[in-house]
Amino acid sequence: MIDVEIRQKAFNGVQVLCDVAFSIASGETVAILGPSGIGKSTLLRIVAGIDTAFDGRVTRPERMAIVFQEPTLLPWRSALLNLTLVHEGLGDAAAREMLAKVGLANKADQFPGQLSLGQQRRLALARAFAGQPELLIMDEPFVSLDPETAETMLALTEALIAEARPSTLFVTHARPEAERLADRILELRGSPARLA
Ligand code: ATP
Ligand code: MG
Repeated sequence: MIDVEIRQKAFNGVQVLCDVAFSIASGETVAILGPSGIGKSTLLRIVAGIDTAFDGRVTRPERMAIVFQEPTLLPWRSALLNLTLVHEGLGDAAAREMLAKVGLANKADQFPGQLSLGQQRRLALARAFAGQPELLIMDEPFVSLDPETAETMLALTEALIAEARPSTLFVTHARPEAERLADRILELRGSPARLA
């Protein structure tokens, strides 16, 4: 169970979020919709515990994975090591199995820089799920991909969530994505942004 209560969040005295409160049940997928600059990434950083400079409180489980807006991978480590170095106790066999699930079985020894953006995204997704998160947070996981690659990613994410059933919070500005993946959609509107 994830409990979020943000009374307010400001940057340099400018209020960005106000009275944003919601819960996510175990295994539930919630989408955050809203236009560029409204505060979606800020909200995710607060939920993830990366940003603690806000008025409010967040209850979250211990095992959490974040997929950032831009894939953040270890550049000088192979795809395989990007999984095994990050997850203590994750063996090579399990990591290879995870890579195979996202279609990267033959890329285990490549550096992230040798992968396409879509493949880097899939690697970041594999790394997130390899930790068996109770809470999965994703920031625009399907943005700036061509329609076909975006569809592949969407189907893959859908399947991984159905299998692992983490509580999931993800951000998008595309309503069809939100409708397809989420059990519930929350919309940020206004300035400062509130839940619509
Ligand atoms: P996008 O869809 O473009 O990613 P977003 O909804 O994720 O946008 P945020 O990145 O959360 O938007 O930014 C919300 C507002 O907070 C913006 O006005 C932004 O300029 C401001 N902001 C975000 N991070 C900081 C920061 N570290 N310092 C100052 N202002 C910030
Ligand atoms: Mg953002």
